[in-house]
Amino acid sequence: MFSDELKNYDWAETTARIASKTAADVERALAARRLTDDDFMALVSPAAAPYLERMATLSRRYTQERFGRVISLYIPLYLTNSCTNACVYCGFNRHNRFKRVVLTPAQIDDECRAIRRLGPFENLLIVTGENPAVAGTDYLEEALRICRPYFSNLSIEVMPLSTDDYARLTRAGLNGVTCFQETYNRDRYKIYHPAGQKSDFAWRCDGFDRMGMAGVHRIGMGVLIGLEDWRTDVTMMARHLRYLRRRYWRTRYAVNFPRMRPAAGGFHPNVVMTDRELAQLTFAFRIFDHDVDISVSTREFPRFRDNIMTLGATSLSAGSKTDPGGYHTYPQSSEQFAVGDDRTPAEVADAIRARGYEAVWKDWDKVFD
Ligand code: SF4
Repeated sequence: MFSDELKNYDWAETTARIASKTAADVERALAARRLTDDDFMALVSPAAAPYLERMATLSRRYTQERFGRVISLYIPLYLTNSCTNACVYCGFNRHNRFKRVVLTPAQIDDECRAIRRLGPFENLLIVTGENPAVAGTDYLEEALRICRPYFSNLSIEVMPLSTDDYARLTRAGLNGVTCFQETYNRDRYKIYHPAGQKSDFAWRCDGFDRMGMAGVHRIGMGVLIGLEDWRTDVTMMARHLRYLRRRYWRTRYAVNFPRMRPAAGGFHPNVVMTDRELAQLTFAFRIFDHDVDISVSTREFPRFRDNIMTLGATSLSAGSKTDPGGYHTYPQSSEQFAVGDDRTPAEVADAIRARGYEAVWKDWDKVFD
């Protein structure tokens, strides 16, 4: 399990190694055919900042070679804001007082219809807070059954599950699972996640192994930018990605680098990442792993999303509501975080086409299940 492997990597030592990288290390990484984790550290280090143009060119080339000139579109569907955890940065934190809702089967069906009216989406990401008593595996299986006729590609972003539960949901039509480790800094993890099941670092971290063992087709991973030194966190994530690729090589992988957005509770990020740094990180990941999907959500503002879509990103969300029932049932309820890009899906698709790319609404078909 990766939580054991992670013990081989010291946080402070990794931070120091990244800080020590030089221009020569960056040059070596840019010329390498298969990057080591030291090469990756060079590309995310401050020494790589002057190389942004070269990194962008390489990232664009690798992305076009592997994916073509296409951007895949997806939309999240929040089913509940009920949560037993107390993540200090999240609006759904159990200590925040507001009305909690859990969508009923009929309401889930209404939301699916409302999403289909927004655009020809086939990629749906089902999202819940973490409350197994009201949104456990039975509830998720039922939700998949309801959503299945409307969308050909169903993914979930929910609490980490057991191997058996991932396998069961995969048999029920699940294609992908996204889970954010938030931070790989084991010592400080509990400061941000003081209560509930999410406070168990190893259970969350090893969830990716359980997904792999269950045969989940696509695994999405990420750290929350704003908690700890982002360079060290993404280096740990790159190691995690390579570990997973070695073991679960049939699986497709995706990464996402969400920057913290304003949310109820008013937590202020410890670390602020600039647009240039987020671009550097995106290029570094593409150069490190040519095959990984890189997803950019509506947390980011239109200007950044429009630029990065031709330089390394492969999928974008569009038209997102980050509150349960936000498309139809409860249009005014509480958001998990503030959205940065509130363009309609059609406007996002127009922006993709304006850059000479194709907007792809569907990249999976039920026939493959
Ligand atoms: S981040 Fe997720 S687990 Fe944490 S409080 Fe928010 S909804 Fe719950």
